[in-house]
Amino acid sequence: MADPDNSASHGTVRLRGWCFCANHGLEYCHRCCMDFRMCNNVRLQDELTEEQLERLTEQAIGVPDDARPPLHVQGAYELLRDGTAVCFAHSAVGCERCFDFERQVMDG
Ligand SMILES: [Zn+2]
Ligand SMILES: [Zn+2]
Repeated sequence: MADPDNSASHGTVRLRGWCFCANHGLEYCHRCCMDFRMCNNVRLQDELTEEQLERLTEQAIGVPDDARPPLHVQGAYELLRDGTAVCFAHSAVGCERCFDFERQVMDG
């Protein structure tokens, strides 16, 4: 059984729990009519450390909004036969280096 946080199903692929359209690897895909920014942001806010939240407040940035530039994972992952998603570079499930979306969003 594939890890639900690192697998593809129903046109959606999850990498470390972050959602993207499976056809194009986009967080926001107009062709698939999918926009995962809102649910990915909820996940992000759950995972931010106190320190990170404090830094955001200090810089008056606030938490990422649902109109932030969308992420993409084209070519960054591949699917194993059982539907498990691994990173392309290291063949690792839930790779912290390739799928560090928290950092990608926070660093803009
Ligand atoms: Zn798509
Ligand atoms: Zn990797």
